[in-house]
Amino acid sequence: MTMDRRRFLGMSLAAGAAAATPRWAMSQASQLPDRVLQGREMALKTPITTTKLYDNVYALQGAGGNMALQTGKDGLVLIDSSFSTSVPKVKEAIAAISKDSPDALINTHWHYDHTDGNEGMHAAGFSIFAHQKTRERMATPQSIAFFHIEMPASPDAALPSITFTDSMQAWHNGDSLDLVHFDPAHTDTDIYIHFHKANVLHMGDTWFNGFYPFIDEATGGRIGGMIDAAQKGLSIADNQTKIIPGHGPLGNKADLQRCHDMLSAIRDKVAALKASGASEQEAVAKKPTADFDASWGKGMFNGDVFTGIVYRTV
Ligand SMILES: [Zn+2]
Repeated sequence: MTMDRRRFLGMSLAAGAAAATPRWAMSQASQLPDRVLQGREMALKTPITTTKLYDNVYALQGAGGNMALQTGKDGLVLIDSSFSTSVPKVKEAIAAISKDSPDALINTHWHYDHTDGNEGMHAAGFSIFAHQKTRERMATPQSIAFFHIEMPASPDAALPSITFTDSMQAWHNGDSLDLVHFDPAHTDTDIYIHFHKANVLHMGDTWFNGFYPFIDEATGGRIGGMIDAAQKGLSIADNQTKIIPGHGPLGNKADLQRCHDMLSAIRDKVAALKASGASEQEAVAKKPTADFDASWGKGMFNGDVFTGIVYRTV
């Protein structure tokens, strides 16, 4: 993002967004929810696997959300930062690919399994880009009610310092990148990143490849937005596009289509039940996900739990 950085930095400095303030990260660990500490623990034991997607674009996968890396003389672009405890492993994985300098870290959304490594990556020289709501949510305490998580505000050094509200384009390392906000989907902070020349699309957590997705109803997520996001991804992709989900294996347009069709079918059934006056419990008892549970219900959630999420966000 070298070309645009001055302009965007100028804008955010004018708004006071990038003012320097003392770090207080160390005092924060004791306030972190158990689930975050467990994620950090798991990340300590989880290696990072690297998959080459194009001459200078790679997927990096570990304990947190799936990451992507673009290399080149303009500097490294990293998408998402996993857990803080992954940072040394991510740096090693990057060093094994490239000696280019750090430049931009782009967050797909605010969740800690995609942003907990921000502070470490910022210290390594990355400027952090994200949707404005990602910064707003990270800068203030948040609840993820479904998992009973009370997230404290992130340290200042972890916050995105360059933000946008709708979309942003960047020309970097011989490619053009679109960063575009989805309407509320998995949260209200989601963006996709599309590398045009490399033909790589990072969907963030609007796509869980192969299992029922988490939809964070407490921070703006909704099933209709997940379906719209999948549709948006399908409209961008062609049959050769390499698509990176927030979680799960790397995929392609046919995989994203299958997920879209599953989400739509379940949404329609649950919406009809809700419209007919069924309570959440009654809707769950009707097993509206039955046709899909064998393929999709063996990941994070079974069909009953996912039906509840759909019911509450439809
Ligand atoms: Zn997420």
